[in-house]
Amino acid sequence: MDTTNQMINVTGVATATLDVGGDLSPITIIGNESIRQTFDANTIGQAINCRMAPGVTSVVLNPDAHVGYGAPVGCVMASPTHVYPGPVGVDIKCSMSLLQTDLPADAINEPTVRRKLIQAIAKRVPTGAGRGQRHVPKSRPVDGRLGFQLTTDGASKSVLKKLGIPKSWASRCEDAFHTAHDGSCDTLAARLEWMGRTRDSLDRLESKYRQLGSYGGGNHFGECEVVHVAEDLASRKIAESFGLKDGHVAFLSHCGSRGLGHDLAMGQFRAMKSSFEKRGRAFPAGDPQLVHAEVDSDEGRSYLGDMAMGANFATVNHLLINQLVLESFRDVFPGIRGDLIYFISHNIARLEPLDGRPQWVHRKGATRAYPAGHPELDRTPFAETGHPILLPGNPRDGSSVMVALPGASLSAFSVNHGAGRRMSRTKAKKLLDQQTIDADLTQHDVMSNCREYPRDEAPDAYKDFGEVLASVQAAGLATEVARLQAKFVIKD
Ligand code: 5GP
Ligand code: MN
Ligand code: MN
Repeated sequence: MDTTNQMINVTGVATATLDVGGDLSPITIIGNESIRQTFDANTIGQAINCRMAPGVTSVVLNPDAHVGYGAPVGCVMASPTHVYPGPVGVDIKCSMSLLQTDLPADAINEPTVRRKLIQAIAKRVPTGAGRGQRHVPKSRPVDGRLGFQLTTDGASKSVLKKLGIPKSWASRCEDAFHTAHDGSCDTLAARLEWMGRTRDSLDRLESKYRQLGSYGGGNHFGECEVVHVAEDLASRKIAESFGLKDGHVAFLSHCGSRGLGHDLAMGQFRAMKSSFEKRGRAFPAGDPQLVHAEVDSDEGRSYLGDMAMGANFATVNHLLINQLVLESFRDVFPGIRGDLIYFISHNIARLEPLDGRPQWVHRKGATRAYPAGHPELDRTPFAETGHPILLPGNPRDGSSVMVALPGASLSAFSVNHGAGRRMSRTKAKKLLDQQTIDADLTQHDVMSNCREYPRDEAPDAYKDFGEVLASVQAAGLATEVARLQAKFVIKD
């Protein structure tokens, strides 16, 4: 760890750079001193590999960074010419979404009320690896036809209508749809041809369509929150324009593209790896997780097509979960109202204007952070404020809604995606004590659907969220608009 910290050139309270040599621009590091101590040599090594990989123009390491596959989780990597499936990850478009209700916090004080809500949600939204619609009595069945439509079209009006999701929610998405083609393809056949796919190959994904409206396992969760808007006037105004309601109940969701995204990503990995091997090409730093393709090649197009389909599934998955959660709340509190505040990803490559040209910004466990006036927010509800940034922390210490500042240009208009792991799952299971974890959550009045809270997901398995947020604010990237206090968590 000492060697890595010696390489880091501290430039501010919470900013640093790391030179990689040659005429490459240095890696940007966000994190105060205590956060920088959490970056181990493998994490720094992966960031260096990413920076030196072909076509890459910039790399940012965020405070939540820890070792990942090929690229660290908690990093940003930009390229105008190349796409990298590794730094998008197998859970294509893993994302956060926040639903605000008009229910006052007091209404859920009683544990019995919260238990009813947990049960109502469990009837509609399954959790657990491999779980889907058939595992719950009140899901929305999705047949192959609708599944195919939503993976190619995303949250279109027709898809939202068929699923009973308010159409206004599309404007609350970072991206409501992703085009699995270059935009010039009108017909389905043309789209498939552009992506190098056949209809038959898509039909093989049919069983995965039936996971729409589910969380999946492990790190994914749904969490009931009480919203605490920050005290200062500026934050209050922004919170109001986002639709946040101080002292009211909200619901935060974390999940991605489930088995469908996973299968598409793995298929792409395999194809790109074997093409590297066939052509005798070396992987960057010898790491097959850093396989890549030029954007303007058959392989690049095929990857972007599949990424778009996975991303469309993740989008509609989140929107449906929010609708199902709202219906569950209405089982217990008939007539309450709820609206989507925002839906934003932390595992995706997006084409964005960066440093004067269009670049594929890969965010691997990182969140887009456009401040007020960013041209890409024109004609969105967030042009004058910046969009909401949804940051999960942990159920004990809370989560955060932030908004970007102009200083976010330092980090490729990105911030972290959470607290980030402090220890691996294996280490957490070995070191953390079950009774202590459960007692700690009970003491903080956080309930859960699990009889025993998963040890590898315990708050102490993650970094100090306060230090992470302090780093983001000290670096001038974003400011906090509201804190979310967990009242119950739904996990596998
Ligand atoms: P990911 O698994 O996508 O890499 O991480 C998402 C982030 O979610 C983690 O860095 C962690 O800070 C946060 N997180 C994990 N579990 C929970 C939870 O149960 N509740 C909240 N609020 N945050 C969580
Ligand atoms: Mn995920
Ligand atoms: Mn995630």
